[in-house]
Amino acid sequence: MTVREKLYRQKKKALKILYTGFAIIIAGSVIAWGIELKEFEPIIYVGIGVFIIGIFFQNGIKCPVCDKNLAQLVMVSSDKIQSCPYCSTNLDERIES
Ligand SMILES: [Zn+2]
Repeated sequence: MTVREKLYRQKKKALKILYTGFAIIIAGSVIAWGIELKEFEPIIYVGIGVFIIGIFFQNGIKCPVCDKNLAQLVMVSSDKIQSCPYCSTNLDERIES
């Protein structure tokens, strides 16, 4: 696996958690406030919790070589970066998975 593939994999996992949290928040809001079933309000807090876990997961995206945080770079422009800005490792370099 290449460094890029590993970073993509982490990005995909973080996005899945973030979208799931977001979907739970929306679903909880619609049920609790839209249909006015107030007892479903805790679902919103669960969604917020999942979303926060997603943010932590996203912030855990690090360069597998130098271990520096690449979260912002990978989440925003992973296609454009060619190498790690800290250790200049080429992202298409092979690493052990
Ligand atoms: Zn690096």
